[in-house]
Amino acid sequence: MTRVRHKRTHHARRDVSRAARTRARKLDPDQIQANMNDAAVLAALQNPTSLDVDKPGLGLFYCVPCDRHFPSEADREKHGRSKLHKRVCKKMEQEKAYTVEESMWAAGVGVDNKQRGSAAGDNKKQTAASSA
Ligand SMILES: [Zn+2]
Repeated sequence: MTRVRHKRTHHARRDVSRAARTRARKLDPDQIQANMNDAAVLAALQNPTSLDVDKPGLGLFYCVPCDRHFPSEADREKHGRSKLHKRVCKKMEQEKAYTVEESMWAAGVGVDNKQRGSAAGDNKKQTAASSA
C-alpha cells in the first residue's frame, strides 16, 4: 500500500469556510472593469468622502483592480509593488469581460427568433390546408 498524500493540498488557504462567506465575496472581474472604465466611479472609490468603520483603514485606502482595502497608505503602496497586484492589473488590461450575450451564446442559449418552430408549424398548416 502506498502512502496517501497529505502535504501541499491546501495552497495556503487555512480557513476555506471563512473565505467562502458571502460577506467575503469580492467583485467579479466585469464589475471591476466597469468601475475602472467609469471615471466618476473610479474617483469616488479612490477618494472616498465618508469613513467606513467596517473596512480596514476606515475604507480610505482602496485598490480598485484588486478590490481590496488596506489599513494604511504605506500598505497600499507596498501592495502596488507586489507580484499579486501586477498580475491582477495585467489580467484586467488584457482580458475583456464577457458580455451577457457572449455568456448566453456560450451556454447555447440563443435569441429565439421563432424561425425554426414557426416554419415547421407553417409547413404543417400549409400541408394540412392543401390536403383538406
Ligand atoms: Zn492591487
